[in-house]
Amino acid sequence: MQASQENSVTTRASAGDPGLEAIRARIAEAATQAQRSAAAITLLAVSKGQSIEAIRCLAALGQNAFGENYVQEAIPKMTALAALNLSWHFIGRLQANKTREVATHFAWVHSVDRIKLAERLSAQRPAHLAALECCLEVNVSGETSKAGVDPGALAELAAAVRSLPRLRLRGLMALPTLSLDPLAQRVGFRRLRELAAAFADFDTLSMGTSVDFVAAIAEGATIVRIGTALFGPRPRP
Ligand SMILES: *Cc1c(COP(=O)(O)O)cnc(C)c1O
Repeated sequence: MQASQENSVTTRASAGDPGLEAIRARIAEAATQAQRSAAAITLLAVSKGQSIEAIRCLAALGQNAFGENYVQEAIPKMTALAALNLSWHFIGRLQANKTREVATHFAWVHSVDRIKLAERLSAQRPAHLAALECCLEVNVSGETSKAGVDPGALAELAAAVRSLPRLRLRGLMALPTLSLDPLAQRVGFRRLRELAAAFADFDTLSMGTSVDFVAAIAEGATIVRIGTALFGPRPRP
């Protein structure tokens, strides 16, 4: 990745895309290490700050799932790429005044952390679309600045979300404190896996980013959310 990060996505794609291939290979290797099937791990390409063209390049190579953090940025991309039938995941901080757009445009929301927001998403999900796939974001590292439900309030939130007709509760998401130490990285991911074990029907653990996805896979991640390691540095803020 070090060398390829200096190139544009277009250059990389035309050269056979070492970015996507390298990440796929690292996911497969991490799965093997963890005695898991790589087929059980979905790569979510986090395209915030990346151009429509960069997304189109990855889509042409078979990447289907893309994650966005900002509604205003995401909608023009979705509109431009509508013909590609990509799967769009909202992974950013949810705001009450944006829930309608999220409910209308996305297939998944990873960052549900309040009952009020879940109720709005369910009420605003258009009838012609399938139920909105949801993960509950958990604040596993207990930092007050971070989004996510407190682990102590998780059961109550899960029960409330389950009762909403237009949401489909799939599992948990977390963004633990970043660390460069592989063992330290696993602590937050392990905590999320243990919290999820209380819910027999959960099938999704959304955890792991560019710097720590190997540790997340070791702890059972089923969706890894990777941006910079795939696209290179974000060109736009
Ligand atoms: C930006 C972001 C990512 C991807 O981070 P990278 O370091 O670019 O891989 C993953 N998850 C969330 C919630 C993000 O906001």
